[in-house]
Amino acid sequence: MGILKKLSSLFSGAGGVREANVHREYVRCARCGEAIAIRVDLANELTPTYADEGEGEGAYQARKVALGSGKTRCFQSVEVDLYFDAQRRFVSRYITGGDFITREEYEVEQESAGDV
Ligand SMILES: [Zn+2]
Repeated sequence: MGILKKLSSLFSGAGGVREANVHREYVRCARCGEAIAIRVDLANELTPTYADEGEGEGAYQARKVALGSGKTRCFQSVEVDLYFDAQRRFVSRYITGGDFITREEYEVEQESAGDV
């Protein structure tokens, strides 16, 4: 355990978040249809999962709540559960209150919103 702790502090002590340590998801709110980007800092936002709790999907998980910009006056929260393996590589994802979309779909949404 001592060695593990030392290793992890080495990795997280680099100072500043590099883009390689960020996992992104793009979601669409089921209620108002707004596209929302989610950013997970892999160095700081992952919590260990415990296989004996029946969630054997990965070594780490992150729960994010995507909140819209407010311009749609929608207060639905979109909850995203992300699972990662011991190397902090993305394994699987679940969503409540919305749907996953692609980065392309998200970017199209941002451009069309700017025209209005
Ligand atoms: Zn909404």
